[in-house]
Amino acid sequence: MEKILALNALSWLDRNPQLMVIVQKYGGTSVGSFDRIRNVAQRVKALHDEGHSVAVVVSAMSGVTDKLIAMAHEMSPNPSERELDVLVSTGEQQSIALLAMALQESGVPALSITGRQAGVRTTGSHTRARIDSLDGAQTRDLLEQGNVLIVAGFQGVNANGHIQTLGRGGSDLSAIAIASSLHADVCQILTDVDGVYTADPRVVPDARKLPEISYDELLELASVGTKVMQSRSVEFAKKFGVKFEVRSSLNNNPGTIVTEEHPNMESVVIRGVSIERSQARVTITSIPDQPGMSAKILNALAAGEINIDMIVSNIASDGLARHSFTMHTSDLGRAQAALQPVVSELSPDARVETEAGIGKLSVVGIGMRSHSGVAAQMFQALGDEGINIGMISTSEIKISVTVPEAKIEDAARAVHASFNLDKAPM
Ligand code: ADP
Ligand code: ASP
Ligand code: MG
Repeated sequence: MEKILALNALSWLDRNPQLMVIVQKYGGTSVGSFDRIRNVAQRVKALHDEGHSVAVVVSAMSGVTDKLIAMAHEMSPNPSERELDVLVSTGEQQSIALLAMALQESGVPALSITGRQAGVRTTGSHTRARIDSLDGAQTRDLLEQGNVLIVAGFQGVNANGHIQTLGRGGSDLSAIAIASSLHADVCQILTDVDGVYTADPRVVPDARKLPEISYDELLELASVGTKVMQSRSVEFAKKFGVKFEVRSSLNNNPGTIVTEEHPNMESVVIRGVSIERSQARVTITSIPDQPGMSAKILNALAAGEINIDMIVSNIASDGLARHSFTMHTSDLGRAQAALQPVVSELSPDARVETEAGIGKLSVVGIGMRSHSGVAAQMFQALGDEGINIGMISTSEIKISVTVPEAKIEDAARAVHASFNLDKAPM
């Protein structure tokens, strides 16, 4: 833990400077069984016994959130999002109470508290709310009284007092926000891998653990499928300058420090590779090449609350344009329904074509800003593997391509090998 000890300045506790305010977050697998919960209790007890002030944010036991969502769909094919939030937030309430009991069993004064009790005020839509503010006064009082606090992740309440959840993986966001409000000295995200790797180690066996990564790189990776951290939590950490560490809940290996970028980081061209499955493409053909057409199409998708990702447009020699978009396969039906009326308005010949079974492969690295030839090397690696590239999109520090979903893992391994990501940079 030494590495992260000095990370965040300003402890609010007026006490022995050796003692710290520590926020830890344990994900679903880490509290996935009674034994795992006891393991977490032992780890937390060790910190408490050393005299530190500890707030622990906990996810639902693994699989529980999915089960609760399935239960809702048993009752209604289209459950109200408000009621979904009331239901799924109970997953975290089970695990906080169980962890508090395990700690109390070993003599630690532990208290479980809900998002509301922790002062997490949310705003925006149910099931994907944002944190609006966090009143940490009660949390601080309870910690100062010597309690270990076990906080339900993933949940808060909005201005009307309704329970809201923060989107899948949202306990990461709860932890970062609570660490920020407490000015914690240490914020650790404890999970079932040793840190952030150059690729998902389940897909690329020789992926390498990164000692550190910048907020921007992790944010880009998280937004294109690297689920080790929820992307909005990384955005929040960057905005409020919360340094944190991702490490394992099952061993004491050093993890990955997530922090502002520094000049040394630019020497590495590619930090990591990420994949996203279950993508689909929608193409609208024979669009008159006139101003306002793209806006009509995108407005229809926005009105249908459909998140599109890559956009590719081109104009055929006959002066008609075609636009393609990618989205999650689960949005395909709604996208078709939203587009159909608009498309017939555009031109009688315009058509909507769809294709599912697409995967997206991305490479990310801030070094791309100052190195050229990255796209060429990525495309070469895929070509050598006989993998056909569909759509391409780039940002300053990311290149994404679509490939057949059945080839996505081979594609990730080929690109990972081509950039020698298994070897530490010199
Ligand atoms: P938790 O339940 O602790 O929140 P998650 O399942 O959300 O954990 O995230 C951890 C998982 O993220 C790992 O088991 C791993 O398979 C996956 N993962 C994907 N990409 C990466 C990566 N680049 N580095 C580490 N883990 C990754
Ligand atoms: N339990 C929630 C989920 O499964 C939140 C989380 O685990 O972070 O998405
Ligand atoms: Mg997670």
